[in-house]
Amino acid sequence: MSVYGGIEGGGSKWVCAVGTGPDDLRASETIPTTSRDETIGGAVAFFEREGPVDAVGIGSFGPVDAHPSSPTWGHITTTPKPGWANTDVAGAVRRALGVPVAFTTDVNAAALGEHRWGAAQGLETIWYVTVGTGIGGGGVVGGRLLHGLVHPEFGHLRVPRADGDGFAGVCPFHGDCLEGLASGPALEARWGRTPPELDDARAWELEARYLALGLVSAIAVLSPERIVLGGGVAKRDGLHELVRCEVRDLLNGYVDAPALDGEIDGYIVPPALGARAGVLGALALAATYSRA
Ligand code: ZN
Repeated sequence: MSVYGGIEGGGSKWVCAVGTGPDDLRASETIPTTSRDETIGGAVAFFEREGPVDAVGIGSFGPVDAHPSSPTWGHITTTPKPGWANTDVAGAVRRALGVPVAFTTDVNAAALGEHRWGAAQGLETIWYVTVGTGIGGGGVVGGRLLHGLVHPEFGHLRVPRADGDGFAGVCPFHGDCLEGLASGPALEARWGRTPPELDDARAWELEARYLALGLVSAIAVLSPERIVLGGGVAKRDGLHELVRCEVRDLLNGYVDAPALDGEIDGYIVPPALGARAGVLGALALAATYSRA
């Protein structure tokens, strides 16, 4: 039986693991994201120590190039993170360990983890959303991870303003895209408190409205069979319930599916793998998509 390595490569930390799945995680380590050489080198050293592994899956912060035929496949591309633009992450790991590597976004990896072992098992088409420092979306469509021209950029969806909302938004590229209006930093900029300290009901009603506007667009475009809504901000007590109400309100009965009406509690759900979704998804990625 093959043993895999997984990397959830985030902008603040890299979570690395060796194993075959959630019941067989043989080793894991969290490495702070510092310089690219130090961070990638730390991950390689971990796999050299805890391996051997037959393949490695990498879910990386982005933007990334995950297009199989691209000469820069496996790179982090235009990130504003200092020192990380145009970094060949997949190539560096492949060269150092001499094993096949699979590569996608951190959010797609988490989507795959939830699809394989978590809250979206057994479905063909699912959408995963994370709401935290940023907002990201990833998906499995027809049983395959969703890549295309590049990869989904759900956080930068344009959403209509709630009535009377004059907040400029915090996205440096768009101002008031979904991430600009509803990410953790947007909540803090708008209300003057970090999400865990924010107890104003109006704040969470507005947050639910914006997240629901994003989700109804995903429903309209992808027709997912389930949506997994995760990330630090989405852990807020009661937020899932508010979002479900807003989604029903916005759809207004148009999409004729029980999942979007009486069964919506089972349609928009929290992640089942919690904080492990990303790194477990990276293991699933290695098992399914790695290339030599
Ligand atoms: Zn944006």
